[in-house]
Amino acid sequence: MKPASAEALARPPLRTAPRPHCLLCGSAGELLHADVSDHFFHVPGSWTLNRCRDPRCALVWQDPMVIADDLGRAYDGYYTSAAPGGAVAEGAAPDYGATFHRLDRWASRLLKLEPERRRHAAVYLDTVRPGTLLDVGCGSGFLAAAMRDRGWSVRGTDFDPAAARAAEATHGIAVDLGELAAIGYPAGSFDAITARHVLEHVREPIEFLAECWRILAPGGHLVLVTPNVDSLGHRHFGERWRGLEQPRHLFLYGHTSLGALLGRAGMTQADIFTTAQGADYVLRASQATAEGAWQRLVDHLAIWTLQVAETIGTRRGRDVGEELIAVVTKAGG
Ligand SMILES: [Zn+2]
Repeated sequence: MKPASAEALARPPLRTAPRPHCLLCGSAGELLHADVSDHFFHVPGSWTLNRCRDPRCALVWQDPMVIADDLGRAYDGYYTSAAPGGAVAEGAAPDYGATFHRLDRWASRLLKLEPERRRHAAVYLDTVRPGTLLDVGCGSGFLAAAMRDRGWSVRGTDFDPAAARAAEATHGIAVDLGELAAIGYPAGSFDAITARHVLEHVREPIEFLAECWRILAPGGHLVLVTPNVDSLGHRHFGERWRGLEQPRHLFLYGHTSLGALLGRAGMTQADIFTTAQGADYVLRASQATAEGAWQRLVDHLAIWTLQVAETIGTRRGRDVGEELIAVVTKAGG
């Protein structure tokens, strides 16, 4: 783990406001994690996460929550242009890490993860005839470009001008800057909308999804990918779990709470499931926060065990994978 730089320590703390009640059902929250620090981008401060007391909801949220005006500063030093896997080796001795990385790849072959990885790379649209696609929060445009190569006519959105410039310069992806509702696409504009690792960053998720729904064409598909708060990795790593990503992840979802959120946004027919296809990345990034050789070794052994358990579990329909997926199809078309 890198120590906070002098520059980081000099930054004023992010301002927060109390958020005692569940956004979805109004219940009180109970403490899930206290004093979670930014293990990954070193924004100074510590944050608390609560879980909704109602097990039929189980939403997880930051309380107190970073106020909207200060949220931009939570992304200082954040690199949306990095390829997945870029931060994995941090904190581990390079040779040691590389050896385990090779073993991980070998393990993923043994676990026959390739078909699941291909579906994930196609954002679960592999059986859909290509049309117009909006990738919300497209970052560097790498994933949007992959969908264009599959025949889709792709646009992206992002609130980071540097990411938008990179997407246009590197991949030729047209990117609209700003929040989705502020961009204001006409109703029914897109045959598919993808939002990968975006929902957990959104302060007003009901309004965000309602806007996605409005601009989706009849017969179109909305695909959401978000960390699964019920994953086995979260259970093992606790507050060190990569998916918590404080202070940038304002809400965290499991199958139950994501279903409740989609319902609040007016969507009733959703296919919700979890996948272990990217567990190696999430778990190794979590392990990068280990302090001391003993904890690193315990984590190494846990990573293999968890990958196997998550792969078998998800294939049996249990919601234990590291990523939570929702594929929602709009009626009509
Ligand atoms: Zn609730």
